[in-house]
Amino acid sequence: MRTTLLAANWKMNKTFQEAEDLTAHITEAVEKLNLNKVEVILCPPAPYLEMVLDLTDETHVAVGAQNINDHEFGAYTGEISAPMLRSMEVEYCIIGHSERRKYFGESNELLARKIDMALRFGIAPIFCCGELLPEREAGNHFEVVRRQFEESLFHLEEKDFRTVVVAYEPVWAIGTGVNATREQAQEMHAYIRQLILSKYGERVAQEAPILYGGSCNAGNAFDLFSQPDVDGGLIGGASLKGEEFVEMIRIAINCA
Ligand code: PGA
Repeated sequence: MRTTLLAANWKMNKTFQEAEDLTAHITEAVEKLNLNKVEVILCPPAPYLEMVLDLTDETHVAVGAQNINDHEFGAYTGEISAPMLRSMEVEYCIIGHSERRKYFGESNELLARKIDMALRFGIAPIFCCGELLPEREAGNHFEVVRRQFEESLFHLEEKDFRTVVVAYEPVWAIGTGVNATREQAQEMHAYIRQLILSKYGERVAQEAPILYGGSCNAGNAFDLFSQPDVDGGLIGGASLKGEEFVEMIRIAINCA
């Protein structure tokens, strides 16, 4: 059946030394675990990618970036391209995180281009979707997520779509300490799987990993990961603490 994934989104946190210690802590712990069907992905800030790649080389920990530019190369000072990541053997890239949508004005259309660029260079997108609080309060959350899929992902051919990892991250839950309840998560994940089914059919829908993100921690991970359509998590704050993140990996293994 599906793979369970646990991805750490460190965002703009940690000094080099702290990131090195955290990577070593997680990697050493992972190597002692039987991951079974669980995949662990670390998404550090870009300047630390090479260090994290080195420390996780030949281990069961994979590495992802937090963002890419939608151009292949050129005069885009400060940006990071898909071919750069490919040449470093980065396997994943978070695309469409709500912080990028909010602070950097990333639209569904731009995200579609980023998705295409990542796929062209063999990088698996971790595509984030999710509604704002007023959108949920108005009962529009399904509609918002449906549009995010239609405008950023559903132009893909089936073989490309199958590379995408989806992360449902209700914006009101990110970094707030208020996670979606297991019922809310399951309801939206089932809806997303249905969307995928109507576009790509049963087999693709059943195989698509759909992660939950938003104030997920060691205390609520079991509740969330044990839902039938929740295939692990994209973890922010709790992934910055080595012990807690390793505990969440154990929980993901139990739920897989
Ligand atoms: P959080 O962040 O776990 O700190 O809420 C999740 C995310 O933004 O990916």
